[in-house]
Amino acid sequence: MDKRQSKQRRSRVVIFGGTFNPVHLAHTHVVKELLRLIVPDRLYVIPAAVPPHKQSREIISSEHRVAMLEMAMQGLPVILSDMELKREGKSYTVDTVRDLRKEVDDAEIYLTMGVDAFFEFHTWRDDRTILSMAGLIVVTRPGVGHGADLPRDVMGRYLTDRIDPGYTWDNESGGFVHPVLCSVIPLTVALVSPLSSTDVRTCIEQGDRPTDLLHPKVLRYIEDKGLYR
Ligand code: ATP
Repeated sequence: MDKRQSKQRRSRVVIFGGTFNPVHLAHTHVVKELLRLIVPDRLYVIPAAVPPHKQSREIISSEHRVAMLEMAMQGLPVILSDMELKREGKSYTVDTVRDLRKEVDDAEIYLTMGVDAFFEFHTWRDDRTILSMAGLIVVTRPGVGHGADLPRDVMGRYLTDRIDPGYTWDNESGGFVHPVLCSVIPLTVALVSPLSSTDVRTCIEQGDRPTDLLHPKVLRYIEDKGLYR
């Protein structure tokens, strides 16, 4: 093997999962930034059937959520996967990563999450098993108490106190590394507004038109189908 070949990086598979109830412009922005900054070989967008941590009665059908995701992600090189929708019961990430691991051989797998989700990671089912198979990409989420920048010191303390003491910061990779578990990469996704699907639902419930929060086709779909009223 020549030097160039040995330097070739492993192929990189990135997962961006969520409830997408509905998908909003910050979700699309995160996807675009992942494509630009992480340059994945494959980017999977995976809607959850029944997320373990959310009230299922508030969640509209997966058919509507997928239809809106298709509109919002149109033209972007992502794979919209129904793997969680096809599984019975709650959508545990550990099962998703395990299934994907079988599909993608020795690729590096990364799970993307907002910083709010990251600080709850120790409550996820089999958190360390997930980290034995996949790294994390943690993106900024203004408006959830951490401002526009990721608090690297707080993230480091959280990892070593709640997940595993073996994590250390590595300047070269710009992430937290561990001798056995996978890396955790903080990623600043500029210009992400503090919006959430909850804001969108509230806005519609109140009879407003959230034109600046949604892709125009998604808004039209919601209005045509009378969703979130
Ligand atoms: P809800 O308000 O219903 O809880 P949400 O807006 O958080 O929904 P999800 O579908 O749960 O949307 O989010 C999927 C992923 O996108 C999560 O990892 C979440 O942290 C991230 N995310 C959502 N909104 C933003 C945002 N404004 N900036 C950065 N990340 C976001």
